[in-house]
Amino acid sequence: MGHVYSIGIITLFFVFAAGACAGSFINAAAMRTVAEKKWWGNERSACDSCGKTLSAADLVPVVSYLALKGKCRYCKHPIKPRHFAAELISGAFTAALFWRWGFGPAFGMSLLVLWFSLFNSLTDIENGFIYDVWAISLGAAGLAARIAGGWPALLDGVLGGALGFGFIAVIILVSRGGMGWGDALLMLGIGGALGWKYCAFGLYAGFLFGGLVVVPLMLAKKLKRKDAIPLGPFLAAGSVVTLFVGNALILRYGALIGSRLGWPWG
Ligand SMILES: [Zn+2]
Repeated sequence: MGHVYSIGIITLFFVFAAGACAGSFINAAAMRTVAEKKWWGNERSACDSCGKTLSAADLVPVVSYLALKGKCRYCKHPIKPRHFAAELISGAFTAALFWRWGFGPAFGMSLLVLWFSLFNSLTDIENGFIYDVWAISLGAAGLAARIAGGWPALLDGVLGGALGFGFIAVIILVSRGGMGWGDALLMLGIGGALGWKYCAFGLYAGFLFGGLVVVPLMLAKKLKRKDAIPLGPFLAAGSVVTLFVGNALILRYGALIGSRLGWPWG
């Protein structure tokens, strides 16, 4: 991972900017999906509060939010920080994944996981819903990309999707509540892209993150057992973290499952 100097700060900056633009688009698409609007139309982006059409200067990812100090230029109403967060998260992780993998198939597969997971997390946070079609699309795109890695890579993706879906499905059937079929389909999609070994670590990390947040809230009595918490973002976060630490963990602890990772992870 010491090739940051050979990649260069300027390249990383452009990758960050591209990732932030993608985040801006993904956030807009997710909010339009939740609002049951078309992604593409004549409709221009407008302020949620005063309805004024926003100019290009108001729509520069990350930068506009900071320059406007988080308020609409026209009515001074606060802009939802989620727009900024989606742009920043996408930009930062896109750059970090490029730094991690360099340009190639692993970077491309990582971006599929990052961007689709971000979309599914945003709809899950907004209205508690993971849209079947956008969860399954990740798996379909992941398997299509895996064709480039040959039959073993494709089989790995099929096993990953089956593991992700099956694991959550068992929890749903045993616990009757807490997790939904949207979560199972999300892990079907993520597993299809990650392959089964990364998917196993992604599940582990996802439940770990979820537990780290949910258990303290329950202990503080801020949360009752029946409260619906979106779990998709935790599963997504666990999977994205696996893109960074999966190889090291599997080399260290993978004795049981074998330390060969397979295409595209190495
Ligand atoms: Zn406004």
